[in-house]
Amino acid sequence: MDFSLSNLSTNKTDGQQHVEVLVIGSGPAGLTAALYAARADLNPVVLAGMDLGGQVSLTYTVENYPGFPEGVGGAEMVELFQKQAERFGAKVEFDTATEVDLSKRPLRVKTYNGEYLAETVIITTGATPLHLNVPGEKEMTGRGVSYCATCDGWFFKDKDVVVVGGGDSALEEAIFLTRYAKSVTIVHRRDSLRAGVILQNRAMENPKITFVWNAVVTQILGGEAVHGVRLKDTVTGEEREHATDGVFIFIGHKPNTELFEGQLEIDELGYLIVDKLMHTRVAGVFAAGEAADPHFRQVITSAGMGAAAAMQAIHFIQEQASDEPQTPVLVKSES
Ligand code: NAP
Repeated sequence: MDFSLSNLSTNKTDGQQHVEVLVIGSGPAGLTAALYAARADLNPVVLAGMDLGGQVSLTYTVENYPGFPEGVGGAEMVELFQKQAERFGAKVEFDTATEVDLSKRPLRVKTYNGEYLAETVIITTGATPLHLNVPGEKEMTGRGVSYCATCDGWFFKDKDVVVVGGGDSALEEAIFLTRYAKSVTIVHRRDSLRAGVILQNRAMENPKITFVWNAVVTQILGGEAVHGVRLKDTVTGEEREHATDGVFIFIGHKPNTELFEGQLEIDELGYLIVDKLMHTRVAGVFAAGEAADPHFRQVITSAGMGAAAAMQAIHFIQEQASDEPQTPVLVKSES
């Protein structure tokens, strides 16, 4: 069935490209949205940014995505998502949205390389790791301070490292770091962890991991390279130095939604506000994944939101193309 708006698919004129579905972001939500839109013959374009896959591509292994009983590497998973979307006609562009105008139709999205006029936009811009904002952090980033164990763990072979945080990311990455590091000290600001019980048990049982409870890092010490952190006990207020070669920070994320400020509804934490059908307040603009999800933030839930957003975008395009409201389910049946 062809229900595209005047069959425009992806017309390119004067650096402007007219598309039916523009997906901004290439993590699990974006690539799943692209898969669904592609299977509805809408030739979606995905603005992948400079790094395909978002945060999951930096994850060493994903063990809780169904269908991979032995787990799957984050980067490999993203490659599979991309291949599957491309197989049905999605186009992944390594380009970044720099400006949007959602006030009129078609919706306009400027990028480094041109401009898109889009009938629908699906925002899946994900989130960025939070910083501690303590002295030494900025100066030492890349010199012992890191936000990605998969990227930088190798540099800490037989070294002592500190991991900051008590959530799933901190524990998962701390366990990963024990492949290389001689010791991993997890510094957590409370005396109980936020992470799930399986990860907690694995971390507690790992002989290379120790915990410093009720402590925060107040300063990162070093010159050319990190040589320690200053810790403050959150109960007694006492401060002390702790020697370490590296500091890995996993204290949560901030949604990447600045681009949409003033045009879409954003909550006090920076998440895009969507209804349960992934609609933003602008008709034809949908959001999915971590940019719009303060609650679950899993690969599986982001992918699910991406699928839902695409189904609604398909429905929207179909309604625009027809006077008669039609049934919303337009994705191809499984074969
Ligand atoms: P998170 O769940 O928000 O945990 C952040 C941790 O950092 C918390 O323990 C928090 O302490 C601590 N923290 C926050 N600000 C801090 C600060 N300024 N100084 C010191 N500590 C600070 O973040 P996440 O671990 O990145 O996880 C994000 C989401 O992804 C979660 O939904 C998680 O379940 C999911 N995830 C899942 C997996 C998995 O299932 N395998 C893996 C990774 C992430 P408090 O506990 O005291 O608040």
